[in-house]
Amino acid sequence: MGCMTRVRCIVFNAALGALDYRVPEGMDAPPGSVVVLPLGPRQILGVVWDDGDLPRDNYPEHKLRSVLEVLPVPPLPAPLRRLIAWVADYYLAPLSAVARMALSSSAALKGSGTVTEYRLTGEEPARMTPQRLQALDLLQGEQATMRELAEIAGVSEGVLRGMLSQGLLEPVLVDSDRPYPAPDPLFAAPALAEQQAEAAAEMVEAVAAHRFQPFLLDGVTGSGKTETYFEAVAAALEAGRQVLVLLPEIALTAAFLGRFEARFGVTPVTWHSSLKASERRRAWRQVAFGGAKVVVGARSALFLPFADLGLVVVDEAHEVAFKQDDGVRYNARDVAVMRGHFEGVPVVLASATPALESLQMAEAGRYKRLVLPSRFGGAQLPKIEIINLTELQPPRGRWLAPPLVEALQDRLAKGEQSLLFLNRRGYAPLTLCRHCGFRFKCPNCSAWLVEHRLSQRLACHHCGHEVPPPPVCPECGEPDCLVACGPGVERIADEVGELLPGARVAVVTSDTLASPAAAAEFVAQAEGGAIDVIVGTQLVTKGFHFPELTLVGVVDADMGLDGGDLRAAERTYQQIAQVAGRAGRGAKPGEVLIQTRHPKAEVIAALASGSRDAFYAAETEARREAGAPPFGRWAAIIVSSEDEAEAREAARAIGGTRPDEPGVLILGPAPAPLSLLRGRHRYRLLIAARRSAEVQKLIRSWLAPLRFPPGVRVAVDIDPYSFV
Ligand code: ADP
Ligand code: ZN
Repeated sequence: MGCMTRVRCIVFNAALGALDYRVPEGMDAPPGSVVVLPLGPRQILGVVWDDGDLPRDNYPEHKLRSVLEVLPVPPLPAPLRRLIAWVADYYLAPLSAVARMALSSSAALKGSGTVTEYRLTGEEPARMTPQRLQALDLLQGEQATMRELAEIAGVSEGVLRGMLSQGLLEPVLVDSDRPYPAPDPLFAAPALAEQQAEAAAEMVEAVAAHRFQPFLLDGVTGSGKTETYFEAVAAALEAGRQVLVLLPEIALTAAFLGRFEARFGVTPVTWHSSLKASERRRAWRQVAFGGAKVVVGARSALFLPFADLGLVVVDEAHEVAFKQDDGVRYNARDVAVMRGHFEGVPVVLASATPALESLQMAEAGRYKRLVLPSRFGGAQLPKIEIINLTELQPPRGRWLAPPLVEALQDRLAKGEQSLLFLNRRGYAPLTLCRHCGFRFKCPNCSAWLVEHRLSQRLACHHCGHEVPPPPVCPECGEPDCLVACGPGVERIADEVGELLPGARVAVVTSDTLASPAAAAEFVAQAEGGAIDVIVGTQLVTKGFHFPELTLVGVVDADMGLDGGDLRAAERTYQQIAQVAGRAGRGAKPGEVLIQTRHPKAEVIAALASGSRDAFYAAETEARREAGAPPFGRWAAIIVSSEDEAEAREAARAIGGTRPDEPGVLILGPAPAPLSLLRGRHRYRLLIAARRSAEVQKLIRSWLAPLRFPPGVRVAVDIDPYSFV
């Protein structure tokens, strides 16, 4: 027998880790190959991994089983394999769970092929039914598989098949591997302002040199950061390379696509959770074959198998949404920098309000800071004023103080737009019975149910549990006794409607902008002047550019400071500075009114006086003194079970074996602030260590010997953002 090829494979089963297999003669399975493997009586997906990355498997050679098949996709490239290994190691996640994030389209793994999609023919139906009418309306301009069309149209596949046989729909054969139109780097290059040109030159140079270099593109709102990093995108395109742009929320893609198309002639490829399976397949394969040049996506796009990546951009890089808090708990901003490191390409973190961590990295010389200190085209930053709610109270049952109401009336009279910001979805955060005091609580979570009047539901914002508002109190049976406590955006919108009759008010939250299409519709309406007052959550605080918007009102600046975790002040500063940045971006100057009960609070005072540097400096000092991130390393251990006693026992067992190391402080276990979540009881421990401490190693050897009942989940959160 000749020399046998033995390969290590990550198998897609978290409990198993890596196993050795034999590569049969004539099969080519280099590292990164996606393979089908035998496992017991079953077949399982796996990836051929690099020697040396993993502990050896001493399974006897003659007993090894053979790789069954190499799937028809390019092997995961080496830089992506390095990234997967790094993420698994740093975030203490199973290698297979991270590798799975890279194989994010199962259809793509089946290879190329054709898909039959369908579209309207434009024929008029001989016999009209309400369902057909609905389909004809909703399927305008759509082309997708039967199943996907049925979903879009909200009718059964049977209805569509009927329409097919009537000639109202026609089939189209689509090649799943057809490339995307290529963006043209020279399509419409703008003349850059001097400060933009200087920043762009630095990034372009690093792209051309194919060199790892993190940049912190730190520019005030409206300074033209997008146009500036577009120059780096153009440079990567000219070099024939691919580009990844990460955005924190799908809602922002709509605005981004338009701007990209205006600059490069075509829209980029998008990657997010609401893509159809056929779109995912095409995007994944074209990324792997190099036919998708620019991909804009949510954090999951970080793990796409780019053939030849030339640049990574993280826009709104300070956003908390880049932190994933379930499954593999990673921070996409930090992983993006690591991807750039392994690919040997520059990474641009763009923000008007950088995370303290990022500023600190710039300070330490690890990131290069590029500053855009003024708005593009001579637009002025808005004037910011404080409304002290302890002196200027809104009338009972209302939330907008008189100066804010006057300002709103003034803008409406002038035909200008206003934006009211309140980071609370729904109508009211708490509903209770006026008769007996009963409060509506989620049965699965330690949280109140939030009233949503638009959808007529009481909803839990943690687990999605929903009930219609009952006609009588479930506790005392009294009819019509429910009272809403406190404001949400819907209630503010009602108030605006009463105060400004005739004003066109839009509520903008993740409920109303659930899809890219809905977001595009909103952008078109706002830009077209069809909205007078936008009432929105943090979703509208960033990215949008509405030239006619001249007034921003912050309904409750104190909200984010309640229950203050590590980043409460920083986050409040970022949110308010960002939303303020929506005002006065065009020719007309902007004004920002901030309602607060604590006008003297450091963060509020800093916002009012426009002293960003002073605020960051004070915040940095406070963190340094407390040994908090970025000056110390934090990690959390979250223990949960459906059984409260079981969760408590497991948490105690962990707490009882805590390592005792100098420079490492371990707090807890204590019941989590959100002690019940999706039916699971939760306990937390916090590890606070010196920057130099090897936290991962410590946690790994701490938890490794412990065994728990099957119902117990132990999650580790490195560099946590959430403390609930
Ligand atoms: P930021 O992202 O920094 O808040 P934007 O990138 O949204 O700022 O830019 C603000 C506005 O200025 C946008 O309408 C943008 O199209 C415009 N703009 C920026 N730079 C240029 C330029 N060099 N030429 C023309 N328009 C520009
Ligand atoms: Zn719930």
